[in-house]
Amino acid sequence: ANSVLSSYGTTIFTVMSKLAQEHGAVNLGQGFPEGLEPPAVLRAAAAAAEAGPHQYPPMMGIPALRRAVAEHDRQFYGLDLDPETEVMVTSGATEALADCLFGLIEPGDEVVLIEPLYDSYLPIVRRAGGVPRLVRIQPPDWTLPREALAAAFSDRTKLVLLNSPMNPSAKVFDDSELTFLADLVIRHDAYAVCDEVYEHLVFDGRRHVPLMTRPGMRERCVRIGSAGKTFSVTSWKVGYVVAAPALLAPIAKTHQFLTFTTPTCLQTAVAFGLGQDPAVLEHLAVDMAARRDRLADGLRALGFAVMDCAGTYFLTADIRGVGFDGGDEDFCRHITTEAGVTAVPFSAFYQDPAAAPRHYARFCFAKLDSALDEAVARLARHF
Ligand code: PMP
Ligand code: GLN
Repeated sequence: ANSVLSSYGTTIFTVMSKLAQEHGAVNLGQGFPEGLEPPAVLRAAAAAAEAGPHQYPPMMGIPALRRAVAEHDRQFYGLDLDPETEVMVTSGATEALADCLFGLIEPGDEVVLIEPLYDSYLPIVRRAGGVPRLVRIQPPDWTLPREALAAAFSDRTKLVLLNSPMNPSAKVFDDSELTFLADLVIRHDAYAVCDEVYEHLVFDGRRHVPLMTRPGMRERCVRIGSAGKTFSVTSWKVGYVVAAPALLAPIAKTHQFLTFTTPTCLQTAVAFGLGQDPAVLEHLAVDMAARRDRLADGLRALGFAVMDCAGTYFLTADIRGVGFDGGDEDFCRHITTEAGVTAVPFSAFYQDPAAAPRHYARFCFAKLDSALDEAVARLARHF
């Protein structure tokens, strides 16, 4: 077996969802929305599945979706993208990330990553032969440590992987942080792979700003989005990558040999979804912020300290507030088996969980109000 990938265990999301199912727990662990799928988008998928075709679509994605992505990025971000040469459809953001990393990294290249981080980043960087250079941001305010970030860049830096809005910290990088990062990327003649799957989940009147829109970044950035998050359909695995033609070319080569295509009917439905009135997507953040507040209020009333959440659909709570005597992994197992509520341990988002903060749990609030209320009621009976 390959020693890089086989050194990793089963992902925490799978472990916790299985445990949740075994114990009939309300699953606020693995990040997936429940009961929030937009009916019009589901109907578009059903109609497209009925109508066909059902054979290989174009390798770069169906024209309707590539045009819809370009139009979406023009409407929301003022980007001017050529759907023919600058947009590619992938089987989820997970594939898009792998395409970018395998396509751009040569063995020995350094990759700057910000920790805590999403679980697929490090294994793929390593398997591609990249050398990770991790920079940690610290709770509770998750400010970018500028000196440490600058020190992580070198003349061997190939790219920085930026996730904003960020899972699991719920941080949204601000203008001055993006400017600082852009400056480092330019200075070191590097690229930025931007995982922006939570682009429509930014709260409290703030707006998502793609790094690609910053001066000098148009040719150096790859922007990744996911219909799974934008339309609350995580099983669909429809993602997209946008980048300048020369940057997209090696990424498209990886896609060609990894998945080649993505189901046509789902691409058609996502094209429909992106083509709706932009107000529909703008409403998603308002709706989700109300769920965030509902869960945050419930958890606070039980004694948890809850961290700020500027974006994504994840809330992080400090478990010391309810007097639990143990680490985050024990806590998440304990509430699953004893209270019937599942969360994921925050330390799972670190390269070395043993050297990570051990007193936080991440809760997903992209659920129906009834599920959020039930989770809080179950925790209230327990603590
Ligand atoms: N990046 C981040 C930060 C995520 O949280 C997720 C969630 N699953 C993904 C990528 C993967 O997205 P997809 O389901 O489209 O593969
Ligand atoms: N992105 C989701 C999360 O952070 C889950 C994705 C997965 O299960 N691989 O919970």
